[in-house]
Amino acid sequence: MRYISTRGQAPALNFEDVLLAGLASDGGLYVPENLPRFTQEEIASWAGLPYHELAFRVMRPFVTGSIPDADFKKILEETYGVFAHSAVAPLRQLNGNEWVLELFHGPTLAFKDFALQLLGRLLDYVLEKRGERVVIMGATSGDTGSAAIEGCRRCENVDIFILHPHNRVSEVQRRQMTTILGENIHNIAVEGNFDDCQEMVKDSFADQGFLKGTRLVAVNSINWARIMAQIVYYFHASLQLGGPARSVAFSVPTGNFGDIFAGYLARNMGLPISQLIVATNRNDILHRFMSGNQYAKETLHPTLSPSMDIMVSSNFERLLFDMHGRNGATIAELMASFKKGGGFSVEQDRWSETRKLFDSLAVDDAATCETIAEVYKECGELLDPHTAIGVKAARECRRSLSVPMVILGTAHPVKFPEAVEKANIGQAPALPPHLADLFEREERCTVLANDLKAVQGFVTAHGNRGKPL
Ligand SMILES: *Cc1c(COP(=O)(O)O)cnc(C)c1O
Repeated sequence: MRYISTRGQAPALNFEDVLLAGLASDGGLYVPENLPRFTQEEIASWAGLPYHELAFRVMRPFVTGSIPDADFKKILEETYGVFAHSAVAPLRQLNGNEWVLELFHGPTLAFKDFALQLLGRLLDYVLEKRGERVVIMGATSGDTGSAAIEGCRRCENVDIFILHPHNRVSEVQRRQMTTILGENIHNIAVEGNFDDCQEMVKDSFADQGFLKGTRLVAVNSINWARIMAQIVYYFHASLQLGGPARSVAFSVPTGNFGDIFAGYLARNMGLPISQLIVATNRNDILHRFMSGNQYAKETLHPTLSPSMDIMVSSNFERLLFDMHGRNGATIAELMASFKKGGGFSVEQDRWSETRKLFDSLAVDDAATCETIAEVYKECGELLDPHTAIGVKAARECRRSLSVPMVILGTAHPVKFPEAVEKANIGQAPALPPHLADLFEREERCTVLANDLKAVQGFVTAHGNRGKPL
């Protein structure tokens, strides 16, 4: 499988190189040159497979030529073997023909584990083969950091440095990062805000001299392998609900358009999906595009669903690329004008075509809490605020009651107690058994000044399994 850039000017890469690449050299994002397509018979024959075996069949074409089948199977079995539910991604019924796909049974209780558990293992496998080591740097306001650290904790060839804003992440989220102890794991609490952290990571990618030749790798949501891993659970959900003979609709809480883009790919690979609902919070750039054909940046509003607090949606470029007949030059132009501060619209017929599949809704904090309370009253399910936004959007935008509606349950409610408290239902979510002692575990974290040189100095001094680079 070869991968090409959405801006058309970077060299095509194989899977291994795409895994290590992050952004393409022309500023674009990598996408498969040709998407695999499965027949209905083939998809139907996967019914009843354990999750890791289904994952093998869905993802195999993407890694062909880079990872032999037997090795890939073993990696997948290990990856999804660490999930706390034997179904890995169980479905729970809320209401008539309405289901939550629970994607929060991984080690850090959010759907990012599906991709980052796999990414860590794939990186280690490829690096071992090449005899290389890398350094990962990332900034987090919560979810991504803990999932990335959990995904890399057993990696022999990776040192990971995660920056979070000191005293500005919730205690559960901080502890999920800082209680994972390993000589290759480095938590840095920066005396600044999330943007400061992100800026330092960006600057470090731009000028990597301090790494003394070691390669820097990104694990943010534009990494192709993360999208790839997320395609699998769309097939999994569909097969549980009568697919592919029957089509299914999905409502997806999204900010960076990663999770829902995976659903769009699943459909293009042959899975019958009749509707995809983009569910956003007040940071609604995607909803403004889907409802009014305007893609324009606005100010950031902090919400009760912080994992979707974004101003621009980094993976949206991948959809734009397809929307414009995969013309890289057009995308380069659009993104250049966007960067200059202008928003853009796409041609009316392209937008209408997109709207045949996608609907959208923006849900504010008040409606999020109301939905948490409503669902709790209906069936006793306690939703996290991101998932609640998905449920609200599903109920508002649903096109057909006879098509099963699946809402992606992106996080366990215990990660976001503030929203659950505000829903005022007299219930507090509890930690699941494998994390029950989280508040007693030893923490390891270094507090550093909001200063690029201090952070880079720390990376240089510890980037080789705790020793200097
Ligand atoms: C990251 C995250 C999202 C948004 O994911 P996208 O990649 O932006 O689609 C939604 N909910 C939770 C809980 C998350 O951690």
